[in-house]
Amino acid sequence: MLDFTFSEEQEIIRESARAFCKKEISPRIRGMIKQRNIDPELIKKMAKQGFFGLTIPEEYGGSNRDAVSVGIIAEEIGRADPTVSIPVMFLVNNAWAYLVSKYGTESLKEKYLPKVARGENFVGIASTEPNFGSDVASMVTSAKRNGSNFTINGEKSYISLMKNIMDNGGGFVTVAKTSPDKGARGVSLFFMPYSKEHMDVTFLEEMGREGSSWGAFKIKDYDIPEENLIGTLDKGFNIIHEGFEFARAIISVISGGAALESIGRGVEYMKNRVAFGKEIVRFQGLQFAVAEHTARMETALDLGYRALWFYDQEQRFGKYDRFRVSKEIAKAKLLSTTWAFDAINEALQWQGAYGYSKDCPEEWALRGIRSFQLAEGSREIMKMIIARETIGKEFMN
Ligand SMILES: Cc1cc2nc3c(=O)[nH]c(=O)nc-3n(C[C@H](O)[C@H](O)[C@H](O)COP(=O)(O)OP(=O)(O)OC[C@H]3O[C@@H](n4cnc5c(N)ncnc54)[C@H](O)[C@@H]3O)c2cc1C
Repeated sequence: MLDFTFSEEQEIIRESARAFCKKEISPRIRGMIKQRNIDPELIKKMAKQGFFGLTIPEEYGGSNRDAVSVGIIAEEIGRADPTVSIPVMFLVNNAWAYLVSKYGTESLKEKYLPKVARGENFVGIASTEPNFGSDVASMVTSAKRNGSNFTINGEKSYISLMKNIMDNGGGFVTVAKTSPDKGARGVSLFFMPYSKEHMDVTFLEEMGREGSSWGAFKIKDYDIPEENLIGTLDKGFNIIHEGFEFARAIISVISGGAALESIGRGVEYMKNRVAFGKEIVRFQGLQFAVAEHTARMETALDLGYRALWFYDQEQRFGKYDRFRVSKEIAKAKLLSTTWAFDAINEALQWQGAYGYSKDCPEEWALRGIRSFQLAEGSREIMKMIIARETIGKEFMN
């Protein structure tokens, strides 16, 4: 059976998300860029709309939605915010809260998840370090057992949502070595709340995503209770991919939505701009560019939803080998993020000098969308996953 339709309930989710985004997100974007901060009022409204509890089970105040439904809302947010700051807040929170809800201890879930669903707390991911991003063997952050606690020492960098977590509470799904001699087989995940005393924070300036915050922190002698261990000790690597893959699939549909909006704005501009005696949209060279980028981005959206569907099949019904799912998601993330950058760049070009001005949404979008070729797994890592599954693990060294 092959069926590309969304369910009736999913269509309703889309309609209501679209109306919300038009009313509450789009009008706030210019203000967010100026203030470099997401309006706290918007966060409250998004929480009330149920946007932060989508992957959290009902008993902790969430709505336990399937991945495709989460993607539908992500696409709509991606269409409404060209800077991708609000989409990032949405995707990081939902993907990593999902991992906590699936593998966290009962007390951890009771303590944090209801607050996350209410938008009072946030969940981030703290994996990257100054000397480690793609290659886990170079990780230095460690967690040593100390009675009923784990003492964490180390450093994390390029971490999104810093301000949300510092101001509102919540914590970071933190990757640390628990058996340093075992390499990737000695890594565990901990939920690490922000601590002024034990975390020395530096904010980093980024290229785009004006409303988002990005930072690094040194962690010193931070005792985390055993109940904050996510999953089994030393087996963090067996589960962390589930958070990354969810995030990557959501990024694919955000990229699709954001780029299609840029194409739409570019076409509108060309319909109104006259050169050589006619609207520039009549030039076939430009029409072909519209056709090419539309074809790519609509395909990217299909790939993104397909990836989310595979994720649901694996997570909800235990279907498909996890490596197959990784490959489907890597394909979607690789193509959607690369194509989206190209499409937005082209839509900027159609708008001439105005396109290059700070006033034009494509200028914001181009800088924001670029982050997706690195964050939650770089495009080279996506290629490595696809190559491994296509050529065979034995040829990867
Ligand atoms: C906007 C943004 C937000 C981010 N948010 C977070 C966050 O919230 N939490 C977090 O933990 N991290 C975050 N990151 C970090 C991100 O996950 C890393 O940038 C990414 O994993 C790559 O790691 P790296 O930067 O250390 O690059 P490196 O691993 O040092 O790699 C450098 C370059 O070499 C390539 N490369 C590495 N190995 C290979 C190979 N074997 N073959 C071919 N090419 C290779 C990489 O793809 C990359 O292009 C964020 C990054 C960005 C840009």
